[in-house]
Amino acid sequence: MSLPPTFKAAVVETAGKSKLYDPSLQQEVPVKFELKDIPLKKPTYGYVLVKVIASGVCGSDVHVLNGAVGSQFPHVAGHEIIGEIAAIPETEDHWQIGDRVGGGWHGGHCHFCKYCKRGEFLLCEKEAVNGVSMWGGLAEYVLLRREAVVSVPKDVDPASYAPILCAGVTVFNSLRNMHIRHGGLVAVAGVGGLGHLAVQYARKMGYKVVAIARDPAKRDEALKFGASAYFDRTHNAAEELKKLGGADCIVLTANNGNLVSQLQPGLARGGTFLTVAIAGNATFDTVPAVVQKQAFRGWPCGSAIDSEDAIDFAKNFGVECAIQKYSLDQIQEAYDSVDQGKARYRNVIVFQ
Ligand SMILES: [Zn+2]
Ligand SMILES: [Zn+2]
Repeated sequence: MSLPPTFKAAVVETAGKSKLYDPSLQQEVPVKFELKDIPLKKPTYGYVLVKVIASGVCGSDVHVLNGAVGSQFPHVAGHEIIGEIAAIPETEDHWQIGDRVGGGWHGGHCHFCKYCKRGEFLLCEKEAVNGVSMWGGLAEYVLLRREAVVSVPKDVDPASYAPILCAGVTVFNSLRNMHIRHGGLVAVAGVGGLGHLAVQYARKMGYKVVAIARDPAKRDEALKFGASAYFDRTHNAAEELKKLGGADCIVLTANNGNLVSQLQPGLARGGTFLTVAIAGNATFDTVPAVVQKQAFRGWPCGSAIDSEDAIDFAKNFGVECAIQKYSLDQIQEAYDSVDQGKARYRNVIVFQ
């Protein structure tokens, strides 16, 4: 594979300024992308160079590109990457040129901190994050750290599987670690990018699933994704959950912390309130937490093997990510639709 001297990247020169992060702002500054030609560097020890085939735009990119998670600018975001290895350093003894691979949120770990020594790579004190601490996949080429590279089968569609590298693995990996009894009730709050995958994964894992949202237009789609019921969150969804005996797990996928206190009464005894959404402060009542042994917890995403499992599960059990495809030229449009909550359900940049 011959390498070009430069590659196109969707560069954001300076962080946007949003009232979401600073309510006192007089003037918001929107995130603006510029397509730039960047000199292509060969990978050094510990890295592989990937030619990107498809790259998802995630809700987290809004946080990243508004400077909320400490990225250095100019910056290239993107952490839902599928591509092919285009170059490796001489030291590389595992990955080969031509391998189909992916890069998710988890972009690398140190192997030596106490969390890494315990195998808890997601908790690494020096965790690298693709498209956050490193430049990401909204570009024709990306450098990925070898220990976090995800092996992707060549017979899955790169565009519809790219979002599995973040949205998919986040809901899959969190749900499979909640120890919910088979046949239990999982309530998914929010039917968007994360939520539509959570409904499908939970259903295919063998749980009864109800979806909770506020847009009546989502009802039919939620049922199609595998929910057995849809509750409007503005019509006391917690009461509806109680009528079903309470949810063994409520999964918050909507960026609305108020839903925690609203929905907690719908949690079953011994149930877990799981958030995979960055939803600000929330109130979780300690009385039922103690008396009814309820738990509140979050979950970040997954390491390489978790992403490989999430892809394998999706392929074998028919979890399908609903996507809209864009070209790199259309990155601004693709991002703005995510920022405005209009994506149905994930936007993916597809490269030629
Ligand atoms: Zn993400
Ligand atoms: Zn570490």
